Amino acid sequence: MEYSPNKMKTLLEKNGFNLKKNFGQNFIIDENIIDGIIKKAEIDQDTLVLEIGPGAGSLTYKLSEKANKVIAYEIDKQLKPILDTTLQNKTNVEIIYQDFLTSDVKTKIKDHKKLYVVANLPYYITTPIIMKIIEDRLPVQKIAIMVQKEVGNRFKAKPGTKDYNSLSVFLDYYFDIKKIMDISKNVFLPKPNVDSIVIEMKKKPQKQVKNEQLLFKLIKDSFKQKRKTIKNNLKAYPLDQIEPILKKHNFDLTTRAEQIPLEIFIEIANNL
Ligand code: SAM
Repeated sequence: MEYSPNKMKTLLEKNGFNLKKNFGQNFIIDENIIDGIIKKAEIDQDTLVLEIGPGAGSLTYKLSEKANKVIAYEIDKQLKPILDTTLQNKTNVEIIYQDFLTSDVKTKIKDHKKLYVVANLPYYITTPIIMKIIEDRLPVQKIAIMVQKEVGNRFKAKPGTKDYNSLSVFLDYYFDIKKIMDISKNVFLPKPNVDSIVIEMKKKPQKQVKNEQLLFKLIKDSFKQKRKTIKNNLKAYPLDQIEPILKKHNFDLTTRAEQIPLEIFIEIANNL
């Protein structure tokens, strides 16, 4: 079947499928948006694409035309008859009907030159999905995902901006993050209450860090109480070792964590 998102409503109705709020089911119904994501994702015949939440398969269908292979995790088994229709004849697509968060993904993604994650994510688990990709050490080069605008803005926030928090610093350790598309509420079925953006997260080269766990704890502790200074949030740390590093970069112990870039957190952690 030549599939397009315009045909999705009919397909869902024909199968008596009711969209589920608890699974974050807001499906894209605008083909231009799908085409935009596909173009920006720059997938080629060497790419294995990992998709989380294929839904009715609108994005999956077009991903499969560009990629070497698509592996998609879908938690809702009731979507199987719909995906079977949408993706019939798509021999390079494998749908795994499991919760992505609890699946052994790493063993599934052998034999590839490039691994990209491309998805319109279920928004209720955006951060857990990113954390799983990091913690399972999935060898991804690039992530292109649609997320809630506010969440995406925090992911890509820079020091000194209101959205910058410990997660922004943590993600900056692994990825270069930028917005690649603004998405209107009107392109979804059903229409959500929140705006969306598509962000691109490109894997950075590994940094020189003596003790990653210490770095991550330092970042978390520094942001413990957002309005408090480094001096107050890091009472349990050797402040006499931290102060000269901050001073070197024109900060001091009265600076708040929201001003401090990743590189300075790394320098502090490496000197503790
Ligand atoms: N890709 C489709 C689209 O753009 O039209 C659907 C996107 S919809 C926002 C999110 C999808 O993720 C839904 O199909 C939902 O059932 C699925 N989903 C929710 N939680 C999941 C989980 N833990 N693991 C895998 N899929 C999940």
